[in-house]
Amino acid sequence: MKEQINVTRSSMPEFEEYMAEIKELWDTHWLTNMGVKHKEFAKCLRNYLNVEMVTLLANGHLALECAIAAFDLQGEVITTPFTFASTTHAIVRNGLKPVFCDINENDYNIDVKKIEGLITEKTCAIVPVHLYGNVCDVETIEKIAQKYKLKVIYDAAHAFGVTVNGIGIGNFGDASTFSFHATKVFNTIEGGAVTYNNEELKKTLYFLKNFGITGPESVEFVGGNAKMNEFQAAMGICNLRHIDAEIARRQTVFNRYRENLEGNKGIKLLQPQPAVKSNYAYFPIVFYGKSNLRNYVFDELEKNQIIPRKYFYPLTTDYECYANRFNSNLTPIAKDIADRVLTLPLYADLELRQVDQICSIVEKSIINKTILINKKQGN
Ligand SMILES: *Cc1c(COP(=O)(O)O)cnc(C)c1O
Repeated sequence: MKEQINVTRSSMPEFEEYMAEIKELWDTHWLTNMGVKHKEFAKCLRNYLNVEMVTLLANGHLALECAIAAFDLQGEVITTPFTFASTTHAIVRNGLKPVFCDINENDYNIDVKKIEGLITEKTCAIVPVHLYGNVCDVETIEKIAQKYKLKVIYDAAHAFGVTVNGIGIGNFGDASTFSFHATKVFNTIEGGAVTYNNEELKKTLYFLKNFGITGPESVEFVGGNAKMNEFQAAMGICNLRHIDAEIARRQTVFNRYRENLEGNKGIKLLQPQPAVKSNYAYFPIVFYGKSNLRNYVFDELEKNQIIPRKYFYPLTTDYECYANRFNSNLTPIAKDIADRVLTLPLYADLELRQVDQICSIVEKSIINKTILINKKQGN
């Protein structure tokens, strides 16, 4: 049987390297609660991301949910519907009302020209997403936030290792949150982090992730449990040793896709951003026209055991759990892109011949579908 190619494949260190890393846990029997691995990983990570402060958490969603909770907000939060479920859920689960801003057609991030029109006296924060690792217009967002005194919490789940003019992506806004889920560019199996520069926030996040315990006999806050354990941290230490090589291999795959598909009249590719060092997290393609070409190409790839993903379809505003609460027609560009986007497989050890095979199926499908449409129209 032919091997299935999924949209992603988790990167792992050599088995022996991980075994060596966790060996001392058998001596100490200290498995969680901010042990030695947790401390060491936090230090390595702070260096790598080039940020002032970092708090490790059990996963990326709790990183975002806790970061939002830490600012003790009330009212409305401006955000994007073109993202993973986590972004919208984190806002709603904090008792806040998401107000959805449309995206721009260039990089699919929040359209900064449309933010001010959505601000009311209830607006307390903006939660933008650096989607696919593309950097938001951080300067304009900063200006708007200062003008209206809003908090900015970036969902940087896709942007691990990205820099702008040499500045780590985790330095923008009041806080940024990362995901180290198995499917992401960098993983700790499950895991996440918040980065920021604020002593108060450091304490609050600590209490939020550890039951609000402030001393052996005192609990001053209503916190939950969102701690990263020692095995996750050990995985992080190992994977971080290889992350630059990992991203370089992703770049090779990414460039092969570009070489193959650039100039194809049926699709639009993401354009590189000036001054940004990319992490080559995703390879989304957007099909032109209203012909359901996206779904056709998806099916053709699947027939060949290639499993792309429709990141991000549906919009979070169209989820069943939000039925009648939000209106996706208010973000027409996001709605349109969600109907036409397809994210192709991309991971460090995807072979270039596999990339070529995927591209040739995409190209052939576009031609076949166009012929079908022309026939139907009697041309
Ligand atoms: C993956 C992801 C998250 C959540 O991260 P987990 O580690 O899976 O909990 C949040 N936001 C976005 C945009 C993501 O892609």
